[in-house]
Amino acid sequence: MNRKDSPNSPAPSQPKSQDNPFPQPSAESSAESPASNLPKAYDPSRIERRWAEYWVRERLFDTQTPGAGAGTPHSDPEMRDSKPFTMLLPPPNVTGRLHMGHMLNQTEMDILTRWHRMSGQTALWVPGTDHAGIATQMMVERQLASQGSDRKTLGRDAFTARVWEWKRQYGSAITDQMRRLGASVDWSREYFTMDDHLNVAVKEAFVRLYEQGLIYRGSYIVNWDPVQQTAVSDLEVTHEDRLGKLYHIRYPFADGTGEIVVATTRPETMLGDTAVAVNPTDERYTAMIGKLVSLPLSGVNGAANREIPILADVWAQPEFGTGAVKVTPAHDPNDFAIGQRHALASITVLDTAAHIDLPGSPFHGMDRFAARERIVAALDAAGLLVEIRDHNLAIAISQRSGAVVEPRLSMQWFLAVNRPVPSAEGGAARASIAQTAIDAVRDGHIKFTPSMYEKTYMEWLANIHDWCISRQLWWGHRIPAWHCTACHAITVARETPAACNTCGSADITQETDVLDTWFSSGLLPFTVFGWPGTDASLLSSRSEAEGPASSLGLTPDLAAFYPTSVLVTGFDILFFWVARMIMLGTHFMLDVAMPDGSPRQLAEAVPFREVYIHALVRDANREKMSKTKGNVIDPIEIVERFGTDAVRFTLASMASPGTDIAFSEARTEGNRAFANKIWNAARFLFMNLDRAREAGIEVDLSKLANALRGTVDAPIETKWILYQLNTTVILVNSSLDNYRFDEAANYIYQFFWGDFCDWYLEIVKLRLNYGEGSDKTAATEALTTLVAVFEAALRLSSPFMPFITEEIWHALYRGKPPKKSIALAEFPGWHLDASLSTPANEDMRELQALIEVIGEIRSLRKDFGIPNHERIEIQIHPADEPATLGAIYLDSEENVSLHTPDIYKIATANKEILAGLARVNEISLSASPLTGANARSTANFDVAVLYERQIDIPAERERLTKDLAKYEKGLVAAERQLSNDSFIAKAPAPIVEGLRKQAAETRTLHDKTRAALDALPPDN
Ligand SMILES: [Zn+2]
Repeated sequence: MNRKDSPNSPAPSQPKSQDNPFPQPSAESSAESPASNLPKAYDPSRIERRWAEYWVRERLFDTQTPGAGAGTPHSDPEMRDSKPFTMLLPPPNVTGRLHMGHMLNQTEMDILTRWHRMSGQTALWVPGTDHAGIATQMMVERQLASQGSDRKTLGRDAFTARVWEWKRQYGSAITDQMRRLGASVDWSREYFTMDDHLNVAVKEAFVRLYEQGLIYRGSYIVNWDPVQQTAVSDLEVTHEDRLGKLYHIRYPFADGTGEIVVATTRPETMLGDTAVAVNPTDERYTAMIGKLVSLPLSGVNGAANREIPILADVWAQPEFGTGAVKVTPAHDPNDFAIGQRHALASITVLDTAAHIDLPGSPFHGMDRFAARERIVAALDAAGLLVEIRDHNLAIAISQRSGAVVEPRLSMQWFLAVNRPVPSAEGGAARASIAQTAIDAVRDGHIKFTPSMYEKTYMEWLANIHDWCISRQLWWGHRIPAWHCTACHAITVARETPAACNTCGSADITQETDVLDTWFSSGLLPFTVFGWPGTDASLLSSRSEAEGPASSLGLTPDLAAFYPTSVLVTGFDILFFWVARMIMLGTHFMLDVAMPDGSPRQLAEAVPFREVYIHALVRDANREKMSKTKGNVIDPIEIVERFGTDAVRFTLASMASPGTDIAFSEARTEGNRAFANKIWNAARFLFMNLDRAREAGIEVDLSKLANALRGTVDAPIETKWILYQLNTTVILVNSSLDNYRFDEAANYIYQFFWGDFCDWYLEIVKLRLNYGEGSDKTAATEALTTLVAVFEAALRLSSPFMPFITEEIWHALYRGKPPKKSIALAEFPGWHLDASLSTPANEDMRELQALIEVIGEIRSLRKDFGIPNHERIEIQIHPADEPATLGAIYLDSEENVSLHTPDIYKIATANKEILAGLARVNEISLSASPLTGANARSTANFDVAVLYERQIDIPAERERLTKDLAKYEKGLVAAERQLSNDSFIAKAPAPIVEGLRKQAAETRTLHDKTRAALDALPPDN
């Protein structure tokens, strides 16, 4: 077949409810049936834990490295040689518990992995956890505090040992949750970011960057968290709008000839002022430039106040405050820049806990906020406080501790991301780390979905500053640098040095800072596969003679799995992690040759080829989940209530790119009902297999694939369901190709519930007769097709609902399945026989025409109140120029709508279906259109039920009169709306169009009701 035929996609809507009013014997009504050991009721809690444990215990998702033996070749040669599908789990914090965001993230990743795996690719999903520097340290510090201790009392080594102990005890909570949810990761490759081999890689990365001159140490204003006592990155700071104060303070000239008034929101920092700045264009102050002021309160130990200059700098804005600003280079990033421009001294007046650190000053030792009050009072007493105004300002808050961030000058380690990268051979320098990361995306080596995130990424990188990679924590990768007490030089080394590299002194101490957690996680896409020189297995076997690490070859894993295929993540870590992985991945991997020894190009140096950014999960009212609001949904709790499959299916069916998910329990309940529907279909099918067996009929489960091919002379419902199945498979594949989890889920839902359960199952029941005198061949064929289609539908649904499909699949094969798991079976492909695959085989859709007829008859029966048991006669009038019948067609362009099924012929040829599903006993052809109250018209036919309605005339008159009044009211409202010119002018066109349509329909209904009322005979 031609896979390029484009299907006419149906809108992904829910199937119409097709409550069959004519129930056949079904699973529900046969309590005694063993149904191959499937319990009567679907109870996810009874099956999910069992399968989750089975998948882990049997190591089903452990992945062999391609080329390293093993692996069953796929039957489809196209698939056999395909590249592996590789993905890294964004490592959750080792301190974490799963939240709904994880659940969505992991559901999407699991669907992709299972789908690729079933499609015959080597599919590797690597799990791991992050040591999460700040979060973990805080957790353990809190624990210590509750025991009346703290980390300083313990000391660094003992504290670090405590954290490891904590990790051993509680660190697997989140991965245990993942195991329970059945994530199909390769647990044999699970890592922790502080595993030995990853530590070696982190150290190697740091040393290489240092040797390349890309890591430097410098004074810098950092965001200081006084509670955690560490620098935090801009990304770890949130801003809160608060009402603060703006203090106007008088600074007297040193020569006593006048004064200048400065405005500040943080008066306590004045103790560290080293200048006052005014704008060079501000005429109020030009005459004062160059004068010295005597800085109030700055004298220590009774000495005189310091004198500082008034200088001109464009940073001072005439419209802010008084136009004159104090300059405190050690405690403000902008002042630091002014200080750099004017070679000002930087005086640190706050310690690491944000207490005043100015020995000899009356304010020494005070907390910053207490000091503020005391300083303002002292200024007031001295007559130097001009005024205090209310002032709205954005306060910087440390995300982790909630402390107000104190900008602070400190020595930090930086990665120079904008500096050209020197070449190893002394040739021309390469583009900077940031530029290479920009090039990788600009040149299309990494694709973002949704594409709008590409712009966000580009803008961030274009304006990026050097990355402060040091953190003043104890938990993390300690920086491999040693300070010399003798000569103050720094020695950076892979192995702990015995002496200073510069002067040879043995008096050296290791840097106390650790690396930013994102530095190590930014290396993961290549370090998890064994970066040459740092791979654990190679390291242990490496002899001294083999020389430096970089000369070692590619590990098989890195050769096979890098670049990874896709990264699935949330927007919140686009900069933290995604951009860092691209920067570090391209930087280091460009230096790693390809498996054939050729130089690696940027396209092969990227850490992943695609990034899929998923949306947020909100509550049912579209509110963001938050602890304060109390609307947080615990995924484990919701899974216990509805089953993992239902929750997964709900998340998938709502996961359209760029749209947040309003997670609703009602919808989850609906999907649990969907799972239940599948369960009951399985029981019906198993019951029929049992009945057939009793009649000596055995379906050969090893030959189901044949049944999916179909034949030209197969019954109408067989051809139709095979056609629907194959079409659904194509639609699901193309949806998943484009990360449309929502569409894929909806196609599956439509097929399984709508096509399969509501229609096909009801029709095929008519054929499943095994008794005396029945057509056993037809029954066997029908049963075989039923089983084959159902089994294929299980495989189709398995990536979305892995538990229920696994349970039923094993039951179907009565404990002897062809594979250890449905997850290892093949994803359904195109199976239709060539003779059925061409558009010429229009009879594939004959049943679709019949379904339309049945739908109209059922609706008429309901309207007429015809009792279910009563058989009726119908008339059919085929439309003169029928439109195409509303199914999913795989026509090529030129064959669209060529087919005009003869609806009367189809109906008479399939009398038994009409009899079974619509209780029709007679069908006649009408030469003229059918227009009466007992008729329905569609684009393709008119159909009428011939039925003498026994009506209660007064009741009917009352009903019709009520209806008529309702329609009249509706018409008046519609006319008022549609004659309102300003409404018509403002409302969107589709809304106006919709109203017009609605009005026209109301008019038709109104006229019909009027006619029906007029036609009523008088009351008795
Ligand atoms: Zn030295």
